[in-house]
Amino acid sequence: MNLALSDEDQAFLQQIRAFIDRNWPPSARNPRGSASERPEQTGPEEIAWFHALVARGWSVPGWPVAQGGTGWTPVQRYLWDRETAYAETPRMDVFGVNLLGPLLCARGSAEQQDRFLPPIREARVRWCQGFSEPGAGSDLTSLVTRAARRGDSYLVNGCKTWVSDAHRADWMFCLVRTAAGSAPPQEGISLLLIDMTTSGIEVTPIRMLGDQHGVSTVTLTDVRVPVANLLGRENEGWDCAEALLDLEPVGVARVAQSQVELGRLKAFAEACMEEGGSLLESPEFSRKVAEVEVELAGLEALELRVLSRAAADDVTERQAAVLKLRGTEVGQRISELLVEAFGYYGVPFPDALLIDNEGAIGHDYALPALQAMLSSRSWSLSGGTSEIQKNRIARALLEPGQG
Ligand SMILES: Cc1cc2nc3c(=O)[nH]c(=O)nc-3n(C[C@H](O)[C@H](O)[C@H](O)COP(=O)(O)OP(=O)(O)OC[C@H]3O[C@@H](n4cnc5c(N)ncnc54)[C@H](O)[C@@H]3O)c2cc1C
Repeated sequence: MNLALSDEDQAFLQQIRAFIDRNWPPSARNPRGSASERPEQTGPEEIAWFHALVARGWSVPGWPVAQGGTGWTPVQRYLWDRETAYAETPRMDVFGVNLLGPLLCARGSAEQQDRFLPPIREARVRWCQGFSEPGAGSDLTSLVTRAARRGDSYLVNGCKTWVSDAHRADWMFCLVRTAAGSAPPQEGISLLLIDMTTSGIEVTPIRMLGDQHGVSTVTLTDVRVPVANLLGRENEGWDCAEALLDLEPVGVARVAQSQVELGRLKAFAEACMEEGGSLLESPEFSRKVAEVEVELAGLEALELRVLSRAAADDVTERQAAVLKLRGTEVGQRISELLVEAFGYYGVPFPDALLIDNEGAIGHDYALPALQAMLSSRSWSLSGGTSEIQKNRIARALLEPGQG
């Protein structure tokens, strides 16, 4: 594995850094200094960033060039993801850009591509993903939301849960059952594109451990969806779901985000003076920081190794599972150490301070620490639980040739 950047990649790196500095200046960045907490509403700075991406043709790097993609190499994609994570730029609609968009490019009809791709590319629409149900999470094939054909529409009834950003989404790509009692169960599933303003849709917030509203339950009662909004063939939606779950193994490890948070932790611990020196100099705390730093360096090396194979389309299920599992554990550990370092100053939730005008006691940037730490617990569940990742790794090791 050669980790040195070519001259061409070095030049690309300078180009993207200049673009980021110009369009996402430090003054626009999160004053509280936490990547984890973003305001609920899209602000003018975020909108300006999205417009700059669209104007430069960089809003959907991973799509085919014919559909507006950049044609970057895997290394260039990696550098772009890393540098934007370092600068904590706003992210385009992840569900539209990273998941549904590539799927539409690969499997959508020409009409569907013409209709749905431009609004995603131009940051004019938000999507959410309606896969999980109260009785179907890790085993999605047991989903029961029913879509019954009625002429040129489907009538959809059921309940989706843990739907991220449903309260802000304009559309949902949704797995439904179009054939009952089929065996095996994945064979009666279809993927529908559902307008969230259709009558019969109710979005109920779920408050998270950190008290944010990021996920919701979406109840569908006699929701009419045109047959034209079926993506892929009827009863073959599982294929699409699997293709989605296989996308983008690089990035799930959150390496760049963890590096930012670790830098923040070390800077604070260095400035935090105790008897006999800084917190970072205390043997016990510095050992904890060093441990997580080593783990993060190992994770970065694995990510680069996977990246070096990505060009050959040779990323295994086992590697993707290790990246997700270890990335989650390392990120969670850093969030715990931030809470430990900030102590009492990290305890209040930012929202609680809005009830009076006295502001925070202590360091402003310590505020989101506890909330962010609690939120990070959910990383063990979303996108495939840690136990499921361990199963994948075990299967690959115990059944060679399976991953
Ligand atoms: C913050 C957040 C955002 C989410 N966003 C979305 C979204 O946008 N769209 C969406 O569709 N879903 C979303 N989800 C749902 C997520 O995909 C599910 O939570 C996940 O798939 C697990 O399903 P479950 O919660 O039903 O748990 P279950 O599958 O019921 O699992 C419960 C426990 O049993 C364990 N377990 C289950 N099966 C096995 C097994 N075979 N071997 C060992 N252990 C097992 C699990 O690891 C877990 O600890 C989100 C979840 C969270 C927390």
